[in-house]
Amino acid sequence: MLPLRESKGGREGGSLTSSRPAGEAPGRISIAPVSGARSIASLPELLGENSLFASLTVPQRTALAARFVRRELAARSELFRRGDVLPGLAVVESGHLGLATRNLTSGALRVAATLRAPDAFGSTALVLGAPSELDVFALEPTVVHLLPKEMLGAIMRQVPEFAIALSRSVAVEASLFSAPGSIPWSDLERYVFDDRLFACLPAGLAAKGRICPLELTGDTMTVAMVDPREVAALDALSAVVPGVRFRVVACAADDLRRFAAARLAVRTESDLGPPSVGSESRVSFRFLSEDLAATKDPRAKVSVGPPPPAVSAIEEILGVGLGVGASDIHIEPERSGVVVRYRLDGSLKRRKEPFPGDLTKGIVSRLKTLSRLDITETRRPQDGRLSVQLQSGRLIDLRMSTVPAKFGEKVALRVLDSDGAVGDLKSIFAVEQVRTLFTRLLSRKTGFILVTGPTGSGKSTTLYSALNLCRAARDVNIMTVEDPIEYHLDGVTQVEVHPEAGTTFATVLRALLRQDPNIILVGEMRDAETARIAVEASLTGHLVLSSMHANGTFEAIARLRDIGIEPYAIANGLLAVLHQRLVQRICPHCVAPFEYPPIIVSQLERHGVLERGEPTVLMRGAGCARCRNTGLLGRTTVCGLLLINDDLRDAITHRASLAELRSAAGRGAHIELPSYAGALLRMGVTVPGEVLPLMQNVQD
Ligand SMILES: [Zn+2]
Repeated sequence: MLPLRESKGGREGGSLTSSRPAGEAPGRISIAPVSGARSIASLPELLGENSLFASLTVPQRTALAARFVRRELAARSELFRRGDVLPGLAVVESGHLGLATRNLTSGALRVAATLRAPDAFGSTALVLGAPSELDVFALEPTVVHLLPKEMLGAIMRQVPEFAIALSRSVAVEASLFSAPGSIPWSDLERYVFDDRLFACLPAGLAAKGRICPLELTGDTMTVAMVDPREVAALDALSAVVPGVRFRVVACAADDLRRFAAARLAVRTESDLGPPSVGSESRVSFRFLSEDLAATKDPRAKVSVGPPPPAVSAIEEILGVGLGVGASDIHIEPERSGVVVRYRLDGSLKRRKEPFPGDLTKGIVSRLKTLSRLDITETRRPQDGRLSVQLQSGRLIDLRMSTVPAKFGEKVALRVLDSDGAVGDLKSIFAVEQVRTLFTRLLSRKTGFILVTGPTGSGKSTTLYSALNLCRAARDVNIMTVEDPIEYHLDGVTQVEVHPEAGTTFATVLRALLRQDPNIILVGEMRDAETARIAVEASLTGHLVLSSMHANGTFEAIARLRDIGIEPYAIANGLLAVLHQRLVQRICPHCVAPFEYPPIIVSQLERHGVLERGEPTVLMRGAGCARCRNTGLLGRTTVCGLLLINDDLRDAITHRASLAELRSAAGRGAHIELPSYAGALLRMGVTVPGEVLPLMQNVQD
């Protein structure tokens, strides 16, 4: 009588208790399409994540799981057709379902919504007993589980919360039919790939292959999207072509890939890891804390057989990350296994295959042991550090942090390549005029140079390169206060702050000043006290270099004023403010002239990047093996440089407004970021899609 008795083969236990409270929006856990079978043991877990079934107990979900029927759908195949009487409720395990309404006269499909794991569909038709109002089909290879409708009544009688969740689900589904902005489905066949329009996409977006401009008519751009819910992608495109209205059509990932094959063919293989780029670039290394790990786990050293899977997984993860020059390595336990992502030139690249989920514990514990963290503590975030030595002898520090997450501890490793080559200013400033001005500033004996920009805009690289130049050019005493020390510079006294031990930027800075330095680097001006000491030092015979989180050069001056630094001190100490951003560089091996669409050129003119009517030849990377067909390789700086001249000094002392500061600077002291960007475009160093998004948020 109780249909939900635990089935014999069912499994229960702590591992199946994950659940999401009913009513909460389903998570966007993106699961790689799995063609293999999900074992029935993990179906209860999937159900636990769906708001409909979250109120069921684990044994109930386990029993229920046995009643589901699994179905695999090929891309574009139908699950239900409009008018069908639904046989049951569908729960998505993997892949992507589209719910479409059909225009009865034209027959055109309009996608009203899309579903991913652990979404469910069918409650309305089942409760009403009415035929489906929607066509439901797979946008990509998809696996669903169908619960026969007879089961629904039985669950409702036993679990009242299920009935409530079901009625909520009915309401949500009903709202889909009446949603006004439903999205038409397109098979892309009637469009012709337009390489010039594709060039409107910012580089990061283009590489993902999930969005593609199809045509531009007047000020309306038709855009194909694999998942129209990815509004961030549309925002990013809108930043390049503001004022353009978008008409979105939905399409299948495979279709889009085929459609844009000319620009995506090799790109889709840019995921890291074997058998593509990863294994070629993999380097071997050894842990400097290995001995320590070995004493704790003697088997690790003594064993003669192949290394345990977790150990080889770590060697693979770090070996590839260090080999390709990743700045960060993320190890993220997810439902599908241990996902590894590398930050490369600012964007995250995913390793193709996740490692099996049962390696999570082994990988995390070993890394924690090597970083001297507490392996028994799994519920609190921890920070540590580990060092490795490459075969070449180079030492690399990794700053490790752990955060407890749903499927296990997530590990982030920051690569501090302290032995790595500090770049010279030539590689940072492609525009010679700015390079010369900045170099000249560094020869001053006293004063204050501020480098601004958001996180990850290359501020520390610029500062280190500046110190490197000072160190080589003059016999000077250089000291730094940093958090953390990112590069080691011979002949420079570097001090790391440890706030928990009582050494802050301010205390270290005060101590350093007693040691008579000529040049001081203050890693970052985070608080008023540090800023005050630094500015005062710049007035008393020291050259001070520092960075600040700000969106423009003038904003930095305002910030200094706002935190209480006296205007006369700013005016007399400050030599210059540099504001910088990083953009992707055109691959030098395949750079070629490219005719961008007029809409791009007019945007560049509108923002002062190019002169109006200026006959300019713009460039693009055509795509080659070295840039993996992306046309882009490495990054470069886009910057604005404000030199404090007499006019500005006057204006700052008299507490001038931002507008007054701007007009004072107008008289020759300011190289604006857009004109620097224009120079980069003319030199063929970067592409419009990289600089246009910056124009929206730089106040310079
Ligand atoms: Zn290339």
